[in-house]
Amino acid sequence: AAKADGRGIHRFFRQELLIGAQSRKQLEDDLRHALAQDQFHVAYQPVVSTRTERIVGYEALIRWDHPTRGAISPTEFVPVAEDTGLIEAIGEWVLRTACMEAATWPKDIRVAVNVSPIQFANPSLPTVITSALAKSGIAPDRLELEITEGVFLDETASSEHMFKMLKGLGVRLALDDFGTGYSSLGYLKKAPFDKIKIDQSFVKGAAIAGNRNSAIIKAIVTLADTLGMETTAEGVEVQDEILLIRELGCSHIQGYVYGKPARAAEVVRQLAAADGMATASGYRVSRSP
Ligand code: C2E
Ligand code: MG
Ligand code: MG
Ligand code: MG
Repeated sequence: AAKADGRGIHRFFRQELLIGAQSRKQLEDDLRHALAQDQFHVAYQPVVSTRTERIVGYEALIRWDHPTRGAISPTEFVPVAEDTGLIEAIGEWVLRTACMEAATWPKDIRVAVNVSPIQFANPSLPTVITSALAKSGIAPDRLELEITEGVFLDETASSEHMFKMLKGLGVRLALDDFGTGYSSLGYLKKAPFDKIKIDQSFVKGAAIAGNRNSAIIKAIVTLADTLGMETTAEGVEVQDEILLIRELGCSHIQGYVYGKPARAAEVVRQLAAADGMATASGYRVSRSP
């Protein structure tokens, strides 16, 4: 009986793997047509200054409206796009779209775009960025590239060269998801980041008494301050977390508490409404609970 059971389980797993491989293949095929069929759009999430509580920029986040499956998360399809190389074309599309849409915003509002390590490893990236800036007409320092530690995993020599090229263009650089993955402090020395984005896993629970995350956030902020870098706390969801993050000295906050990622048209409305409330400078943001 044990033997039979064993075979049964074996067959079950084989079946699962097969289904997994099939749906993965399907996702790849669908992804190949998504750009041409206009199934992507970019959503924008506000980034707020801790000090002034005003919107200083937005992070561009890709959205895929699949014709039959509906919305598919970038956490599901970006890795597939990376494996297949499709991320090159998709990433370029995001860059161009985000710069074009940011061109309709007030000139002091920045846009942050996620750049995959695959794009970062391609020597044509600076040309792609130059062209996106030129076509949109936005100033280079309004564009912030969000890069993860993944870019350091390949050879360091070429990544150092890429960092120099990008800084030469005048764009800003942010280290995304800091504290997850490899988090070698050496990375901070190697690359001229303007900002560290503290991963949302550290923000989660940080406001609860006795939680050690707040000590970790404090340490990251101290490090960033010393290196002259800004800090954004990601995934801030509630008012208590705003208060704590401010106390810990982060310069910026991004999270549902200030707004979920929204379509470009909604951003224009947000900024217009905020402008109506603005005093000397900046765009006040309304706060959800
Ligand atoms: P990320 O760059 O770290 O983006 C932040 C993610 O956290 C976004 O998820 C955002 O919607 C989510 N988020 C923001 N505030 C909160 C909050 O208060 N609570 C919670 N629970 N989540 C919050 P999203 O849009 O699903 O994107 C996931 C990841 O996919 C991104 O993480 C990024 O790594 C990748 N991604 C998204 N768009 C692009 C893109 O255009 N290119 C590339 N290469 N990667 C992208
Ligand atoms: Mg990001
Ligand atoms: Mg992040
Ligand atoms: Mg992330």
